[in-house]
Amino acid sequence: MLVMKFGGSSLANGQQIQKACEIVKSRRDRQPVVVCSAHKGVTDMLINAARAAAAGEPDASKITERQRGVLRELGADEWMLDPYLREIEDLLRGISLVREVSPRVLDHMQSFGERMSCRAVAFHFTRAGLKAEAYDAFELGFITDDHFGQARPVKGYEAGMKAAFAHKVPAGVIPVVTGFIGKTERGEITTVGRNGSDFSATVIAAGVDAVECEIWTDTDGVMTADPNLVKDARNIPTMSFAEASELALYGGRVLHPSTLLPAVKKNIPVRVLNTNHPEHPGTVITEKGGVETPVTSIAHKSGQAVLTIESAVMLGQPGFLARVFDVLGRLKVDVDMISTSEVTVSITCAPITNLVEVKEALEQHGRVTIAEKKSLLCIVGKDLKAQAGLGAKIFGALSQEQINVEMISHGAKAINLSLLVDDQDVRRAVPALHRALFS
Ligand code: ASP
Ligand code: MG
Repeated sequence: MLVMKFGGSSLANGQQIQKACEIVKSRRDRQPVVVCSAHKGVTDMLINAARAAAAGEPDASKITERQRGVLRELGADEWMLDPYLREIEDLLRGISLVREVSPRVLDHMQSFGERMSCRAVAFHFTRAGLKAEAYDAFELGFITDDHFGQARPVKGYEAGMKAAFAHKVPAGVIPVVTGFIGKTERGEITTVGRNGSDFSATVIAAGVDAVECEIWTDTDGVMTADPNLVKDARNIPTMSFAEASELALYGGRVLHPSTLLPAVKKNIPVRVLNTNHPEHPGTVITEKGGVETPVTSIAHKSGQAVLTIESAVMLGQPGFLARVFDVLGRLKVDVDMISTSEVTVSITCAPITNLVEVKEALEQHGRVTIAEKKSLLCIVGKDLKAQAGLGAKIFGALSQEQINVEMISHGAKAINLSLLVDDQDVRRAVPALHRALFS
């Protein structure tokens, strides 16, 4: 089987869905399993509608208009999905009565995006001559824990998934399966987190032992830098699981950071392709990778925070870092980069929502300062350590642009070198690094 995942922009309207249909047709003899996101923008609309309902204003009209619009473009009966739309209206009324939306209800609400888009897509495929049937992923064994908003498949889900595919999908039928959502063993609908349909796709690929997982998106595979910042960013033909994970974690926008875990476990190649340019070979991500160039890509992540703890007692005090990390773990601060010296330790993380609490707890251990609006730049490559002169190139390029680097981290494994700069410097830093490292 071949898993083919189409993202929201690849299913944004009738024209895009037709492109996806042609692409699936070209692979019809490889037993495709199609995994779909919601049409672009619909998940945001569902979340906004839930929030508005909690504030006393239940209104499903935007969602209804958007979904019926896609159906009209496909030439389908525009009332085809009204049972779902009615459920959405009921749920919004319920939320407006209790004036509260819990993570569980929010997941249920968001699930309608994928459930409706899969029906629209399967309808179109079938009419275009591909025998397709829509399924909610949980009908096919996508069973998760109850961590609403960030659910993960239960251990050993694969056996149930394989059995469900065998029993529920008739031979010759192409299953069109919801990305992003699952169900707990108790039957509550969950989501795996925003932009999580990539992850759903590899979970399904691992569950059915697919030969490959294709991620259809709107760029020519993974690029050497964000094409919005660097005009001559190039496609990366092949990369390793390790490099791609590093990139996804440090702000490469093409793949959701968890995407590669299930693929790594079963060693399933993941191929990133462009729905608008299907003949482009994209990027294939495998265990070995294969790029011979020393630097693979530059990623960046803005709006980060930096916590610095300064303490004279750190000198010769075993256990100091353990205590600091205990606080961070307890208060769920997800650390990206750390750097330490004799008396200070600095860590970077995503914007902190419980800032006051974190600060107070850390102040037990030293003087704490917090900086915000920082950007993490991450240079990913095969064996950066072996590249004599790489550091000089990087710092030369940044100093020419008069960009101040505040933190550096270069792991012993040396597939990434990370730097911290001000948010406002990113627009100059990324192109400068790209020029220095790729031309
Ligand atoms: N529809 C979901 C979102 O917008 C999942 C996805 O597109 O991957 O976050
Ligand atoms: Mg998406």
